[in-house]
Amino acid sequence: MNEVIVEDIIKDILLTEEEIEAKVKELGKQITEDYKGKNLMLVGILKGAVIFMADLAKSIKIPVLIDFMAVSSYGNSSTSTGIVRIIKDLDCSIEDKDILIVEDIIDTGLTLSYLTDNLKKRGAKSVKICTLLDKPDRRKAEVPVDYRGFIIPDEFVVGYGLDYAEQYRNLPYIAALKEEVYS
Ligand code: 5GP
Ligand code: MG
Ligand code: MG
Repeated sequence: MNEVIVEDIIKDILLTEEEIEAKVKELGKQITEDYKGKNLMLVGILKGAVIFMADLAKSIKIPVLIDFMAVSSYGNSSTSTGIVRIIKDLDCSIEDKDILIVEDIIDTGLTLSYLTDNLKKRGAKSVKICTLLDKPDRRKAEVPVDYRGFIIPDEFVVGYGLDYAEQYRNLPYIAALKEEVYS
């Protein structure tokens, strides 16, 4: 990827690297306080949450287990199908664990609504949600967001783990894509 290509597709930078870093530290501090004495297990949703997960985990100062799930929701398009399918399940047992789902972004809420129910039914002690970004305008399923980084407007964003057609996950900031790129 070179700079010319990135500038061609980006409309504007919504959140800088510094803003994200400060927010992630704040979330980590809050989670550290809230989960003292508990059995915290972070469950990252692949692949979008990978970079957020890495930074968040480092800012949590109590023992944590880390695991990942992959679910299908978007494919290469930018609209939700509403169909949630588990592509990669957890490696660890979730019995008696206090699960914190780590997500990149909540849009319709369909993915997290399904996953929260699914993990509760499988015997987790508690299931909460931590999302870096929240796009409330397009919500279809109500999900309780326990830890939220930023509320953003209804724009398709990339960077800091979030992709468009598997590209741009490595951008260190969150940027809105030009509409002509995905429409
Ligand atoms: P939901 O089920 O809440 O509609 O879907 C959430 C998932 O859709 C996110 O985890 C993310 O993978 C994808 N998604 C939703 N909005 C955006 C966006 O603006 N940019 C990117 N790259 N992915 C998005
Ligand atoms: Mg995601
Ligand atoms: Mg994606």
